[in-house]
Amino acid sequence: SYEIEREHREQALEESNARLEQFAYAASHDLQEPLRMVSSYLRLIESQYGDALDGDGEEFLEFAVDGADRMREMIDGLLAYSRVETRGDPFEPVDLETVLEDVRQDLQLQIEDTNAEITAATLPRVKGDDNQLRQVVQNLLENAITYSGDSAPRIRIDANRRKQKWVISVRDNGIGIEPEEQDRIFDIFDRLHNREEYEGTGLGLALCQRIVERHDGEIWVESEPGNGSTFSFTLPAVADRD
Ligand code: ADP
Repeated sequence: SYEIEREHREQALEESNARLEQFAYAASHDLQEPLRMVSSYLRLIESQYGDALDGDGEEFLEFAVDGADRMREMIDGLLAYSRVETRGDPFEPVDLETVLEDVRQDLQLQIEDTNAEITAATLPRVKGDDNQLRQVVQNLLENAITYSGDSAPRIRIDANRRKQKWVISVRDNGIGIEPEEQDRIFDIFDRLHNREEYEGTGLGLALCQRIVERHDGEIWVESEPGNGSTFSFTLPAVADRD
C-alpha cells in the first residue's frame, strides 16, 4: 500500500543519510593527520627558511598557510557536524545566562574590534546538551557580528515561552538575507556572500540546525535585505521539578 511504500522510502533515505554521515566522519577524521603534516612543515619552512625567501616566496608561503588554516576549520566543522548525534552528551538543565556569558567572553576580541553592542533579556534554563547549545549561541552571535555591513553591530537576544518550549531569538541590524536564500543558508557548505569580504566555512548554520533538531527544536530566520536578520530557535523548557 501507499503507507508501506512511504515507510520503505523513508527507511532507505535514513540509511543513505547514515552512510553519508559515516563517510563525512571518516573522511574528515582521516584528513586530519596529513593536514597536520602539511601545517607543521609549513611552519618549519617559515621558521627555518623564512629569511631566505624573497617577497614572492613569503607571499606564497602565506597563501599556503592560509589555505591549510581554512582546511583545518572545515575539517573541524565537518567533524563537529557528524558528531552531533554520536558524541552528544545526555541532556540536563542548562542555564542559558551562563552560556551567553561564556560565549561573550570567547568573542571578546570580535566584540571590541567591531564595537558590537549586545543586549539580552533574562535567559531561561532549558533542557539540553550544554556544549552543543554553546556552539549554537556562539555561531549565531558570531554571524550577527560578522554580517553587520558598515554599521557597528547592534544585537538583541530575547527569550519567549511557548508552552513546553522556549523560543530564543538573536536579532541583528546587519546586511540581511535575500528571501530566496533564507532556506539555503542552513544547508551544509552554503556560502552566499562574497568570499573575499567574509571568511567562513558555511558550516555554522548547518551545525546549529543539526544541534537544535537533536533537541526536538526548530531554527529559522526572518530577514529583509539591508534591514537585519532575526534567527530564532526553540529548545525544551526545563520541567518545573528539575
Ligand atoms: P559561514 O558564516 O561560515 O559562511 P554559516 O553557516 O554560519 O557559515 O552561514 C551561512 C551563510 O548565511 C553565511 O555565509 C551568510 O551568507 C549567511 N548569514 C548567516 N548569518 C547571517 C546574518 N546574521 N546576517 C546575514 N547573513 C547571514
